[in-house]
Amino acid sequence: MSDNGSLAVAKPEIPEVARIDTWDVRPVAEVIGRDYAAVIQLRLAVRGAIARGEPIYACPRCSVPVYLVSREDTRRFYFKHLHEDGSCPAVTRGDLSEKEINAQKYNAAKESPDHRRMKEIIEESIKCDARFSAPQVEKTWKGADGSWRRPDVQAQFGQQRMAFEVQLSTTFIRVIAERREFYLREGGMLIWLFKHFTEHDTRLTQDDVFYNNNRNAFLASEETLAASRATGRLHLECCWSAPVRQNNEIVLTQYRKIVSIDDLTLDVERQRIFYFDFDQEMAKASVTPKQASAERLRRDFEAFWLSKPESNTQETLSQWYAFMRRFSEHGIQLSQYLGGDGTESLLNNLYSARHGKVVGRSYKKFIEVAHLVAGGYKSQLWAFGLLLAAHNRLEQIQAEDKNSGKWEKKRAIYHPRIKAGDDAYRPDPKFNQLIGFLFPEIAEGLGRYPKKQP
Ligand SMILES: [Zn+2]
Repeated sequence: MSDNGSLAVAKPEIPEVARIDTWDVRPVAEVIGRDYAAVIQLRLAVRGAIARGEPIYACPRCSVPVYLVSREDTRRFYFKHLHEDGSCPAVTRGDLSEKEINAQKYNAAKESPDHRRMKEIIEESIKCDARFSAPQVEKTWKGADGSWRRPDVQAQFGQQRMAFEVQLSTTFIRVIAERREFYLREGGMLIWLFKHFTEHDTRLTQDDVFYNNNRNAFLASEETLAASRATGRLHLECCWSAPVRQNNEIVLTQYRKIVSIDDLTLDVERQRIFYFDFDQEMAKASVTPKQASAERLRRDFEAFWLSKPESNTQETLSQWYAFMRRFSEHGIQLSQYLGGDGTESLLNNLYSARHGKVVGRSYKKFIEVAHLVAGGYKSQLWAFGLLLAAHNRLEQIQAEDKNSGKWEKKRAIYHPRIKAGDDAYRPDPKFNQLIGFLFPEIAEGLGRYPKKQP
């Protein structure tokens, strides 16, 4: 992979990192890659591993563990030494230490009226729900290994101990990762609660939480408190992303809704709490590159065929050869020339059935095509009929047949024959692959032509 489109900064001070387990050295542009959500997840994984004392990456020049940071303004990522003593030529640590930044921020955000009100809202909301133990505010949670945390609010929901942290400003990824590791060890469940949440927020912290929580974020507000009071169940507002497949692209849409704690999945082992299972839905919606290329080919070829290409002009021929190459990538051999080997009538007939109109012929009415197939292309009638059914063309056929009734008479003849497995109507198997590829809506039915009755 080239670093084209990588989310790494252009000239990182540490250009390569080594995996500590294998000492496999790779360029950071490659490690960081182009998938924003994946980088955000890697950020937390790297920090979590450091918190557990098993760092994943190190600087290959000095062997000091490294972690992933982001430039707030550009959202480009780079690696930083965990500590620096001047022995490495790469200098990644600035003048302002984390402690100093924390000290600056402390008074501004930590005990702001907003923060205090948020804590009250959570406390009061939990009190509405009798299934929770009495909420404790700013009480120490002592860990089994002697470490401790002091979450904004904590309570027990049934058997599950839960911690609630208000998120108003910025929290270092180190802090997020260390808390995550703590509650993981404790079998507790940590929920970050936002006051605001917008899709294109500039705060990296929001992304650190969101992308590591199955793309669900939670908010507490006067409105969720009112909902908790009205129902006697803890309610929170959830913001989530949902994938929708449009042709061959996956489009993400944002949703928000006030939900009950009963609607949420608590995945304690992965420290995830969610209303909408993004990962699962994404896996369902995903298309492989091969499927995407097949779909493009299907669309391009249909557009080409419906454009009534003039046969044997130089332009048409070169288009045809290009199609031959693309079909061969999908294991399908197209005829040597446009519409050769009997494919011209086949494609005209089947595209007619799909679209309910005359394709490639100078007929006036669609039903004329149907008559032609039933009379002159008996081996195509099975696929033709499947397409009529798939696209609900029955009404159209009946309407066009109303005056003469000829189609109905024809149908009375061929229908029992097909049911009896008459060889005259049996589809030619050499076309099954092409038909199945171009008309996936009938691919399953193609091989179901009835067995011959003795
Ligand atoms: Zn170094």
